[in-house]
Amino acid sequence: MEGHRARKRFGQNFLVDGNIIRKIVAAIDPKPDQVIVEIGPGLGAMTRPVSEKLDRLHVVEIDRDLAQRLREGDLAPKLEIHETDALKFDFGTLGPDLRVIGNLPYNISSPLLFHLAEHAERIRDMTFMLQKEVVDRIVAAPDTDEYGRLSVMLQYRFECAHLFDVPPGAFRPAPKVMSAIVHLKPRPVEQLTARDPLRMSAIVKAAFGQRRKTLRNTLREHLDVADWAALGIDPSRRGETLEVADYVRIANHCAARG
Ligand code: SAM
Repeated sequence: MEGHRARKRFGQNFLVDGNIIRKIVAAIDPKPDQVIVEIGPGLGAMTRPVSEKLDRLHVVEIDRDLAQRLREGDLAPKLEIHETDALKFDFGTLGPDLRVIGNLPYNISSPLLFHLAEHAERIRDMTFMLQKEVVDRIVAAPDTDEYGRLSVMLQYRFECAHLFDVPPGAFRPAPKVMSAIVHLKPRPVEQLTARDPLRMSAIVKAAFGQRRKTLRNTLREHLDVADWAALGIDPSRRGETLEVADYVRIANHCAARG
């Protein structure tokens, strides 16, 4: 890899397939007036074609050697390089209307998505390459094996779309698993009807904590028989059978009751 040894601990699998890179850039469709940040630019597979369409591109890279290469490379004049951990980076400072892109390090993708969700009101959209299994979980419908906390919390906050799959051969070194591109667009605030998002988050976490158990058990601390009756939800169901809107209703019921 042009003198760089891929670091496993930073989830480094570099894109090398030109057709796939073009397809991703076409899906992002960067425009010169847009503020875009790329997480994990690495050796610049996406950084180059995206920055060609912009005056300025923000990049967040944790690997010192890779950040240094970017500083010394020909793309440097166009880049605003943030050499830091994306999990600690305050994306809010780059918004409003920020576009976030990246071929994400798979080992931190879920915490990173939750971190970005906190800045969603300043984000226009996000286009990410993730492990396909994670994308399947993000877009999953109720009553499927893939449906879980990630599906409910991200679908509540974002419109989530699976764009296309990317095979292992598109990377060096090749990962063991399939990848996929996902597009996340924050929902307008009028659609965010949970009165207490933290409460909703706690309820969803508890409901999926033990998948095989009934709601009566998993949400025992939050709701009693009278609450279930008032909500019109059978507590012998399991968490994976409820729609996102049901979780909003449950959380709002708890918030109203105090
Ligand atoms: N974008 C490049 C590509 O498509 O070839 C590299 C993708 S590679 C899967 C992930 C990149 O994210 C690497 O450059 C890695 O060093 C960087 N990275 C890993 N953990 C990170 C973190 N916590 N914060 C910022 N960047 C990180």
